[in-house]
Amino acid sequence: MVYNKFSEYLKKRYGTKVYKLPVSLGTTCPNRDGTLRPDLNAEAVGIAHTPCNNRDVALQPDSNGFGSAGTSADATVDAEICAATGAGTNDHYHDAIADDGACSGCIFCGIEGSGFETLPPENSIREQLEANKRYIGKKYGAEKFIAYFQNYSNTYIAFDRFSKAMNEACIEGIVALYIGTRPDCIDDRRVDFLRQLKEEKGVDIVIELGLQSVNHHTLRWLNRRHGLAEFIDAVLRIKRAGLEVCVHMINDLPADDIYDVIEAAKVLSALGTDQVKCHSLYILENTVLGKAYKEGRFKPLSMEEFIERTVSFLEYLDPDIVVQRLIGRSPTGRSLFCNWYTSWWKIHDMIVEKMVREGRYQGRHFDYLNGRALRHFRDT
Ligand code: SF4
Repeated sequence: MVYNKFSEYLKKRYGTKVYKLPVSLGTTCPNRDGTLRPDLNAEAVGIAHTPCNNRDVALQPDSNGFGSAGTSADATVDAEICAATGAGTNDHYHDAIADDGACSGCIFCGIEGSGFETLPPENSIREQLEANKRYIGKKYGAEKFIAYFQNYSNTYIAFDRFSKAMNEACIEGIVALYIGTRPDCIDDRRVDFLRQLKEEKGVDIVIELGLQSVNHHTLRWLNRRHGLAEFIDAVLRIKRAGLEVCVHMINDLPADDIYDVIEAAKVLSALGTDQVKCHSLYILENTVLGKAYKEGRFKPLSMEEFIERTVSFLEYLDPDIVVQRLIGRSPTGRSLFCNWYTSWWKIHDMIVEKMVREGRYQGRHFDYLNGRALRHFRDT
């Protein structure tokens, strides 16, 4: 097995093919509606400027001796991006916020949030699911489905509305609810409700958390406006309740290097993440990143770099973690740059071919947990 593929996992778990039905709750996102304060950490310690990380110095090989696979992004390109956009600096961070006069959200996020395949939220949850179920069911002869709350932050909503919607989604044929949200939109009340719903309705619950990077400098560069701590807190709460977690990562962020990507695989594995969804960085119209791209201030990394980073990520990932996808795609029509103008499935195949050719596979380097340094003792 080169990697733990989602479609095969679903078939094994539910005994048949299972299809995701997108459904919209009509929520928004705290990173777009102006409720988050600009930069809590910077305010607290009075930071005026955060230096650029990992771009103006050549990183030494991993001191643990693990990270030999691949190279970091081209230093010249990184330095150019850093100098031109202020990547990783507080200046760029505040530029991004000022861009639309209020709050721009993540620098890559288009106006409709992270999803784009849903029916209008004016339709009830049940109506949306029934309509999609009829269509997909007829097209593929499917009988089991996942209700996928993809767009925006689906737990960022009053509790009563949230609980009503989740109950409504448990119609016949739905075997699981997949709920996309941000790490700072998870609390015990919602998690506890979902735990009870799982027991009462017999559906699986997977919370899909957007993280993108484990490097907190990169999170600031992206204008995520949450740190790694909020992510860890959310995962621990979800896992304690017996629910599952899927984490979204972008493997070719120029503000990261390959060691950040490897560290991400290790952090997700150590936290007991159940699933991951990998993305490449796409660039949309009407985003902060799109503006920088059009003005020649931002240059994406190469496809080769993305592929190498993704392969390395998989090598350090716990082999039991299910990989929902290795690469995504952008909303059609509004994209300035996506997947190097190549089909996502071609890039997927290039990743798999490279792994087979080079004898690399998911979990190849998954040997770093549970006291790795103690293993040379031969105590009885
Ligand atoms: S990517 Fe997600 S978290 Fe970021 S602004 Fe868009 S909806 Fe909010």
